[in-house]
Amino acid sequence: MKVPVTEYLEIDLERELWLCRRCGHEVGPARQAYKEGLLVYARDPAEIHKPILDPALYEFTFAPDGKWISILEYYCPDCGVMMETEYLPIGHPPLNDMQFDLDALKAQWSGREPLTEAELAGPDPVGMSQHHHSHKQKHEHGGR
Ligand SMILES: [Zn+2]
Repeated sequence: MKVPVTEYLEIDLERELWLCRRCGHEVGPARQAYKEGLLVYARDPAEIHKPILDPALYEFTFAPDGKWISILEYYCPDCGVMMETEYLPIGHPPLNDMQFDLDALKAQWSGREPLTEAELAGPDPVGMSQHHHSHKQKHEHGGR
């Protein structure tokens, strides 16, 4: 049984592995932090949030200071999809933001069926599934 965890991560309960939901890549053991199996790109924070003021004229430009904050992006090493991003103080290790009790998860899912595509897609709050019409509008021209 594969249990979806995020848009791009799922856990294979039988093999106890984190998997990429997009390409099936085996990210790593599900009893460890999934980020250990991903590619990390430490970005220049001022590249993500560009200065509003001219850095040649002003010390503070509204861009984050790379001496104080790091922005990390995590990518699947196989298909390259960006799976996660995080902002951290300089020197702080990556957050271990998801750690499941796998034995409890296995017990919880032992009596369940795998999720259907509709269940994976989630609720339809704006009724888009009922939204059927052509975007080619009819143009009526008046009698003039
Ligand atoms: Zn992938």
